Amino acid sequence: MKRRTFIQNASLSGVGLVAGAAAIGCNNKTESNVPVDAAGKEAVLPVVIATWNVHDATAKAWEVLEEGRSALDAIEAGCRVEEANAEGQSVGIGGLPDRDGNVTLDACIMDKDGNYGSVVYLQDIKHPISVARKVMEDTPHVMLAGAGARQFALESGFEAEDLLTEKSRKAWEKWKETSEYKPIINIENHDTIGMLAIDANGDIAGGCTTSGLAYKMAGRVGDSPIIGAGLFVDNEIGGATATGLGEEVLKTVGSFLIVELMRQGKSPQQACKEAIQRIVAKNDNIDNFQIGYIAVNKKGEVGYYGLQEGFWVTKYQEGKNENSASDYYNKKS
Ligand code: ASP
Repeated sequence: MKRRTFIQNASLSGVGLVAGAAAIGCNNKTESNVPVDAAGKEAVLPVVIATWNVHDATAKAWEVLEEGRSALDAIEAGCRVEEANAEGQSVGIGGLPDRDGNVTLDACIMDKDGNYGSVVYLQDIKHPISVARKVMEDTPHVMLAGAGARQFALESGFEAEDLLTEKSRKAWEKWKETSEYKPIINIENHDTIGMLAIDANGDIAGGCTTSGLAYKMAGRVGDSPIIGAGLFVDNEIGGATATGLGEEVLKTVGSFLIVELMRQGKSPQQACKEAIQRIVAKNDNIDNFQIGYIAVNKKGEVGYYGLQEGFWVTKYQEGKNENSASDYYNKKS
């Protein structure tokens, strides 16, 4: 399908559903979830949104949607683009290691039916998002960790490879010269890919993949692979995902909070902002860390908000793949 036809088809498929959908917020077991509002206006679908400047990843996800495939397929394909990018030092191969020099990856994925799969502290496997999907689809569990996750990945056909690139090894060696073995908490180290997509059918999926906090303690796991913290999707309401200092996102269960705020009627933007404000309220010093949230609701409306300046998002909607700087809380004025 060509891009324009795809958008038209998405729209037309919505028209066909209007009769069955009285208002925004459809039953997620129906054949299609493309909602209309009270005035009969259809959702602007499909949409892909991701944390940071990840044009190639959102383009890949959009391409998958153009092929008529699901939001879940789009999320996996989009996240894999950044995981395979050895130049990126925050996701997949090339990710900055922990303080001992080990690259350990976390990822999770969630589908329209509320299914969820996750891997934490996974080593040697470039595509944790795909392993997370396999956990979701092929096991009776939702989360596998460390050696068990690695074993499952190998048994599922993934190849083991050294994920510590020369560039990241050098960065780690340099960090060791000056650091006192404390995690560095600054915004440059936070570049998790969180991605949300709604397909032409109106179904939502999300994914989140990261190498975590650079130079973290061995064994540390952040928010990114944890349901409700780094990612949450409810196909009746919307989805949310996070980037930044995982400890703070975990303590406020940020992504679940955002979806629940949207359920109460807040827009994605209002919900992301309130989730940041919860973190602000619990911290005396908010100057030394970054958090960024993105969200999408069933209408295809998106929102994004950061704690600090410098949080960027990439959105692919209505055929346009665009970066935007997020509004943020900690304005020094
Ligand atoms: N949220 C990630 C974590 O805490 C870090 C990041 O966004 O880079 O593991």
